[in-house]
Amino acid sequence: MSRSAHPAGPRHADVLPEGHYTAPAADLNVLDPKVWAQTVTRTESGSVSVGGIDVADLAEEFGTPAYFVDEADFRARARAWRTAFGHDADVFYAGKAFLSRAVVRWLHEEGLNLDVCSGGELTTTLSAGMPADRIAFHGNNKSVEEITKAIEVGVGRIVLDSFQEIVRVAHIAQSLGKRQRVQIRVTVGVEAHTHEFIATAHEDQKFGIALADGQAAEAVRRALTLDGLELIGIHSHIGSQIFDMAGFEVAARRVVSLLAQVRDEHGVELPEIDLGGGLGIAYTSDDDPREPHEIAKALGEIVTRECEAARLRTPRISVEPGRAIVGPTAFTLYEVGTVKPLEGLRTYVSVDGGMSDNIRTALYDAEYSVALVSRTSDAEPMLVRVVGKHCESGDIVVKDAFLPSDLAPGDLIAVPATGAYCRSMASNYNHALRPPVVAVRDGEARVIVRRETEEDLLRLDVG
Ligand SMILES: *Cc1c(COP(=O)(O)O)cnc(C)c1O
Repeated sequence: MSRSAHPAGPRHADVLPEGHYTAPAADLNVLDPKVWAQTVTRTESGSVSVGGIDVADLAEEFGTPAYFVDEADFRARARAWRTAFGHDADVFYAGKAFLSRAVVRWLHEEGLNLDVCSGGELTTTLSAGMPADRIAFHGNNKSVEEITKAIEVGVGRIVLDSFQEIVRVAHIAQSLGKRQRVQIRVTVGVEAHTHEFIATAHEDQKFGIALADGQAAEAVRRALTLDGLELIGIHSHIGSQIFDMAGFEVAARRVVSLLAQVRDEHGVELPEIDLGGGLGIAYTSDDDPREPHEIAKALGEIVTRECEAARLRTPRISVEPGRAIVGPTAFTLYEVGTVKPLEGLRTYVSVDGGMSDNIRTALYDAEYSVALVSRTSDAEPMLVRVVGKHCESGDIVVKDAFLPSDLAPGDLIAVPATGAYCRSMASNYNHALRPPVVAVRDGEARVIVRRETEEDLLRLDVG
């Protein structure tokens, strides 16, 4: 199984042969609602609109490349997660997928909590008015400054990732005269992505404390003895872009067995478990993600069943979807610059962005879809590779896709499902100016993260 391709796209888990690409859709003008944000439609004139605004008008006003977020869709997905999990569970949006103050406000209004994993994410979240007690702080190497700030502002929980951090957080909390609510992140020996998971005893990765060899039980024992800590539960996060719930089942079973062990050894029933995020979305028409209510039902049943078997009170469950909320709600709009047919191979379509605004294809071998959005076309499909303008042959946005063969410079094309891990992982490679994020709703568009300028670049470079 390919390691380099790990938390990536939907189909790199050896499910399809190398070099595979699907046949062209019957009609390239049709937009599959599975991969496009809710309000995206093709208008009568043939171009595409989102939130009631034509992409040509958006390109004119905001330039390209740019990310457009369908605010109504974002709110609907956040609400669907909130509703599906009800009052006996908490939904924490994973801020690392995409974080801006507007998004924090939407989440706050829709009743969700938020995960952060750095001081910068914490500051952004607080500055948008999210109450600190609805924030969870993650990370495998939080600095003393970050921990201090998190405890001072009163975050709802810190997720402890190592033995050293147990002591470090306890010490800082105590010196501030506080008792910090914490969870311990355990690695349950389940590595899951897409349609596969592997269950082993050990995991060869940097996060968490191993359940194997009694490590996690020892971490619990230490946390329970420290005055600065209030241990509220166990945390597990098993992977990303997961469609198959079987990995969660194994993880939940192993976490619950730790809860039973803790009860037997310390007479304490920890009240919460967090099953992390990692739920998959559709990047292409071949992906079939589950609805939040199906996921909530499946997780609830698994935990309830395991707790009944262990004669434990069912703990409060929390989940941390990032991609599954924001991923499908945005697309990246590009202008075609050059079209270069390579005889017998494919046609390279160069756009005005690339690996600086979407690193996932280069980093994870991720798969994306693409469509011509400024007009319709009845031309024959051609096999394309959409590439950026950076000085790297690996600067690929969409590896294999079909676009109409009359595609020409000046056409607008859009890559859907870029809401998660695109702007948040964007870089300044080649001194690219990171694109803006524009929220569109009910015929109105507003910049929520502005485009970088050359002045921004020069401001950091102090000469
Ligand atoms: C990355 C991460 C998430 C979110 O993952 P998604 O794939 O975006 O759902 C949730 N929890 C933890 C601890 C993470 O590291």
